[in-house]
Amino acid sequence: EPAFAYGEALQKSLWFYEAQQSGELPGWNRVSWRGDSAVNDGDDVGVDLTGGWYDAGDHVKFGFPMAFSATMLAWGAVEYRDAYADSGQLTHLLDNLKFVNDYFIKAHPSPNVLYGQVGNGGTDHAWWGPAEAMGMERPAYKIDASCGGSDLAGETAAAMAASSIVFRPTNPSYADTLVTHAKQLYSFADTVRKKYTECITDASSYYNSWSGYNDELVWGAIWLYRATDDDSYLAKAEAGYDDLGNEPQTSTKSYKWTIAWDDKSYGAYVLLHKLTGKQRYLDDANRWLDWWTVGVNGSKVAYSPGGQAVLDRWGSLRYAANTAFAALVHSDSITDATRKARYHDFAVSQIDYALGDNPRNSSYVIGFGNNPPENPHHRTAHGSWTDQITNPEQTRHTLYGALVGGPPDPNDAYTDERDDYVMNEVATDYNAGFTSALARLYQEYGGAPAAGFPQEETPDGPEILVEAGVNASGSTFTEIKAIVRNRSAWPARVLSDGSFRYYFTLDGSTTASQISVSSAYTQCAAPTLHPAGGTTYYVRIDCSGEDIAPAGQSQHRREVQFRISSAGTWDPANDWSYQGIPTTPGATPESTERITLHSGDSTIWGEPP
Ligand code: BGC
Ligand code: CA
Ligand code: CA
Repeated sequence: EPAFAYGEALQKSLWFYEAQQSGELPGWNRVSWRGDSAVNDGDDVGVDLTGGWYDAGDHVKFGFPMAFSATMLAWGAVEYRDAYADSGQLTHLLDNLKFVNDYFIKAHPSPNVLYGQVGNGGTDHAWWGPAEAMGMERPAYKIDASCGGSDLAGETAAAMAASSIVFRPTNPSYADTLVTHAKQLYSFADTVRKKYTECITDASSYYNSWSGYNDELVWGAIWLYRATDDDSYLAKAEAGYDDLGNEPQTSTKSYKWTIAWDDKSYGAYVLLHKLTGKQRYLDDANRWLDWWTVGVNGSKVAYSPGGQAVLDRWGSLRYAANTAFAALVHSDSITDATRKARYHDFAVSQIDYALGDNPRNSSYVIGFGNNPPENPHHRTAHGSWTDQITNPEQTRHTLYGALVGGPPDPNDAYTDERDDYVMNEVATDYNAGFTSALARLYQEYGGAPAAGFPQEETPDGPEILVEAGVNASGSTFTEIKAIVRNRSAWPARVLSDGSFRYYFTLDGSTTASQISVSSAYTQCAAPTLHPAGGTTYYVRIDCSGEDIAPAGQSQHRREVQFRISSAGTWDPANDWSYQGIPTTPGATPESTERITLHSGDSTIWGEPP
């Protein structure tokens, strides 16, 4: 029996990428609570930039970590394809990898143009709601021949080249397309020689290019070499190696950090050794992984008492998972038995820690294992309709497979708090090395995927509804206060062609011409009177043109006060829609199914008489 069901963790970890999908969802998307969103991305620049992944708990499409995530996922399948096939996850991996590469293709409309971000960090982060209900502008940002981005273009080249290897056996023409883009992007990167955050300055507050672009030039060349077998790319990678960062005041290659969205040097050590067998790369890879395990010259990554290697506060588990994956690849490509075991065992311990082998005996993967997190810093999974991180208290959706940030300090302490984006955000880059490591561990230990996964979620109550109560009443009139509310989250959706109907019955010999309808306050249109057969009539209030969206305290509701007055007799007691609503004037409106709500021609709430 494996320590954990690695196949199930792998299955869920891949599913998480479907929860992050932007644009029109493909038919194979398995997240029952997601819908289309951001379908106009790129309109501001006249390029279709729909698709791709929302970065994390937010909805910006940050191209730099997106490309890195794609590279890391592809890398796992390049090394351990059989694990994907054997666990039944290959189709899901291919689907998700194609989805993000399709976006890179759109984002690269000409050789020296690459869109590297859609959505503005400030305006996106200022709003707390589901992707399907976003209302802010989503500007597109690009790099080009004058305004650089060798890191961004180099990483995107790496992603497409690595992915091409994964598609080669099943979809060779797509693989060719990816290689064409990767080559163009690489030569753009190699020529422009600038940091992307000097161009896309908005990204510098979130994914600043700290390490510069030399590592992506080496990394991109490595992946192009692997994708094409063209030796000139290997020569480029090796020629650029000297330019990778060193430890301060030394000529020793950096070893006190790890492969993550910013710096791919560590991945280059491992892969250049694997591809060339040269001692220099082996030494650099070993030194780096020794620092993560046994220490180098008395210096070592911080370890918690429970065994977590903690490199940095923000998203500590992702650094451990990335390192674990690279350690597994390296372990598999070296012969020194001591180091082979050391790096392998380190990787197993870090992945197992995340899956629940830790002092809290708790999983850090949502919807997996024992006592997993329930309140990730994730807007769409939370499902607030009022633009509030605190409302509702319960997170409405299970974001299966997402690895949370984890303990910020090396003390195994963690709290499951939604507003803590340092320890409780989730991200496409957090899951990438993690997914690939899980594939490798599945190959060795097994652990079946969950049968019948995923199950469709059930909404936690009415999603779009009408509340009503009597606002005022008299012997000749009834005045109703009605509120349309949109709390939708399965998926969240905007009601832009809404209308509702209040049914009543004419009394005695009263005729329709003796009835008048009016409104003292309406956030929709003025009420109109319509026959419904026999003596039954209804007041219709048209809200079309209003976007009633689960997007804020005022955005999610529309209130209408309307009065039905009779010049004949008037008795509300026998009126269909009057039943069951609070009749004391001024009482708080309550949910009522006897007022029908419509979206265009379809009835979405309530029963007519
Ligand atoms: C967002 C997070 C983001 C953090 C730091 C928060 O407002 O919700 O998604 O990681 O800011 O930029
Ligand atoms: Ca870099
Ligand atoms: Ca009546």
